[in-house]
Amino acid sequence: MKRIHKLPDHLVNQIAAGEVVERPASALKEMLENSLDAGASKITVDLAQGGIKLIRVTDNGSGITADDLPLALDRHATSKIASLDDLEQVGTLGFRGEGLASVASVSRLTLTSRPADSAHAHQIIAIDGALHPVEPAAHAPGTSVEVVDLYFNTPARRKFLKSENTEYAHCEATFERIALAHPQVEFLLRHNGKVIWRLPVQDLAERVAALLGKDFISEAIAVETSAGSMTLSGFVGSPTYSKASRDAQYFYVNGRFVRDKTAQHALRQAYRDVLHHDRHPVYALFLSMDPAGVDVNVHPTKIEVRFRESQAIHQFLFHSINKALAATTAGSSSPVPA
Ligand code: ADP
Ligand code: MG
Repeated sequence: MKRIHKLPDHLVNQIAAGEVVERPASALKEMLENSLDAGASKITVDLAQGGIKLIRVTDNGSGITADDLPLALDRHATSKIASLDDLEQVGTLGFRGEGLASVASVSRLTLTSRPADSAHAHQIIAIDGALHPVEPAAHAPGTSVEVVDLYFNTPARRKFLKSENTEYAHCEATFERIALAHPQVEFLLRHNGKVIWRLPVQDLAERVAALLGKDFISEAIAVETSAGSMTLSGFVGSPTYSKASRDAQYFYVNGRFVRDKTAQHALRQAYRDVLHHDRHPVYALFLSMDPAGVDVNVHPTKIEVRFRESQAIHQFLFHSINKALAATTAGSSSPVPA
């Protein structure tokens, strides 16, 4: 009979990486979310070979002290929550403390950082999960995370990667989802040295226009409703602007992009009378609500959430969009009575 033993940390991290870091785009998401949680107002992304060769994210956020650098790469180490109460009220994008540890376990990772109040930057390198000593480095206030050769040490996983073009497309989609929700942040995306996106600080309408197109925004209906502690804002496409696929549907809960069945269903219902059943609406919608009413800790990459009162959410979304659509269709077909 085989005896039970504890797995070594490095292997534990690699197992977690299987859930958290499915592909380069998932590593990019973890890194971008960290930059936003650090309060960055400018974020630069460099990718090479679809993110497989290189993902580098540089920000001007709060930075990490030299002493904390090894902890940032340690599993279950986070500055974002400290208690169950914090978890139930969580307002940051990250909180599980496993993003960087997971990425570091399947790549060659360099973390360089300088807190705003520090005169010097420091750096730590992790190769195959092993941490090298912290060393002085050169860096402006903020943080850079550089991930090279994703899955170099886990060939079985590496085989699951698709072509560079496909992996790049996933990275770009991830970048766009995050950039759309943070128009107050300046973003730059380069792939193989070429600038793909340069997004200045903008208001939401400008950011939506940049990412979803001027055609969309010029016909879009602005949404701004609230009920109790919930608010819904953003833009939904007019019924004349629809797509054959669902990939231009952006729905966020408290700033986090999610795929949610309740929301998709409510939106589909709201459009039912104005859109042919094989067409899909385009939207960028931001639901903000009491964090205690939504559990974001149900999926390793947090793409799914669970609402405490999903029925109420469904009604709120349906009525908000239904009303917005009714106002425009009524307005365009007959003059508004005086
Ligand atoms: P989490 O985001 O869940 O806390 P991570 O493994 O992604 O876990 O990051 C661990 C910690 O490292 C964070 O809690 C944060 O303190 C620090 N950190 C990571 N990236 C950055 C960054 N870009 N700027 C400042 N701090 C960072
Ligand atoms: Mg994180």
